[in-house]
Amino acid sequence: MPLTGIEIYKLLPQTNCKECGDPTCLAFAMKLAAGKTELALCPYISEEAKVKLEEASAPPIRVVTIGVGDRAVKIGGETVMFRHEKRFENPPGFAVLISDTMDEAEIDGRLARFSQLQYERVGVTLRPELVAVRNDSGEAGKFEAVVNKVTQKSDAGIILMSSNPDILAAGLKACADRKPLLYAATKENVARLADLAKESSCPVVAKASSLEELAQLTTELTEAGVKDIVLDSGSRTLRRAFEDQVFIRRAALVKKFRPLGFPTIVFPSEMTDDPMKEAVLASLFVAKYGGIIVLSDFRGESLFPLLVERMNVYTDPQRPLATTEGIYKIGDVDENSPVLITTNFSLTYFIVSGEIEASKIPSYLLVKDTEGLSVMTAWAAGKFVADAIAPFVKKSSIADQVKHHKLVIPGYAAPESSGLEDELPGWEILVGPREASHIPAYLKGWKP
Ligand code: SF4
Repeated sequence: MPLTGIEIYKLLPQTNCKECGDPTCLAFAMKLAAGKTELALCPYISEEAKVKLEEASAPPIRVVTIGVGDRAVKIGGETVMFRHEKRFENPPGFAVLISDTMDEAEIDGRLARFSQLQYERVGVTLRPELVAVRNDSGEAGKFEAVVNKVTQKSDAGIILMSSNPDILAAGLKACADRKPLLYAATKENVARLADLAKESSCPVVAKASSLEELAQLTTELTEAGVKDIVLDSGSRTLRRAFEDQVFIRRAALVKKFRPLGFPTIVFPSEMTDDPMKEAVLASLFVAKYGGIIVLSDFRGESLFPLLVERMNVYTDPQRPLATTEGIYKIGDVDENSPVLITTNFSLTYFIVSGEIEASKIPSYLLVKDTEGLSVMTAWAAGKFVADAIAPFVKKSSIADQVKHHKLVIPGYAAPESSGLEDELPGWEILVGPREASHIPAYLKGWKP
């Protein structure tokens, strides 16, 4: 449970030394309770008080990391039920399933698709993160060999899946340095799995057949000293799995129920044999509230929309994706190249620059900072009007880089053309297309 300002104050040194930047310990405590300062700013808190305060200020859903280095996947850490309340913090990881009974060609194909299916969108690389290796053979040697292959052929984070702790330990030998997720502790093997997780410092999934049993299991794991836990409620029908996700999130955030304060793993791969239905189920768990989503295979036609959905759902709604203001040279520009201007909403920038590139006519693209708003919205908000555009064009050095002084503005900003000609003496303002897709045709008629 979060502590009040007064409760926090009682744990502080109460010397009012001001080193934290606040005039008194009480002021610091009040700010800390409101989440407006950081505990680390007070250098004099005792270790005992620090532990208590850190526990109290920990997010209601624990952050769990799977993997290491650049490829590590962080899940959990969520603080709201709905994205519009603040934002969702850590996007779910997508995992592809590999069974140790699959033939070599099938395993190779899945690993190849894992590596190849990557996409660039608004300057971000979208890709899946995890490979789940499931022991269906019942043989430790086979399992270890497949895990070995995964480590050699991909940089994926790994989920090791077996109900047998000895077989999990064999798989772990092959990939311990990647800090895999161990799947799964059940009421039958919880003590062994707790030992394995502690010895290897790996996170572990708690799997049960009801939420009550799940809470009991996480309590046992926590008492055994395991902190990084992922929840599998065991449900494999859409309705039950969906209800469980909502119940778990609500229990952790609203009821502050610590035993369910962990991220989850869901298995659309085990809910249907129809690839399209599986993708639809996965999309549901992107929005509510999967931490790891395990798919039976990756296909471009379903993975790409899922990756885009994930990016959109996990974008901070209060901070649109924005591109840096400036002059962007697209192609081998010279003094006769066209000059176009647009806003710094990332999607706008990437669509416009993509169309200019497709036209094969090297061009300058001026990107005006409109706080991440698109052309129409920025224009309506007064951020992409003559008074704002003209100082930016003057300040940029574009006038020195081209012989002609012609500026192409987006069709949606046409009402600004005469104002811009007044504000930018010597410049001819041309009204370009409204839709970016018409830019290539427009540029074909370009004359400096
Ligand atoms: Fe109090 Fe610590 Fe701030 Fe000093 S640094 S005023 S002891 S909270």
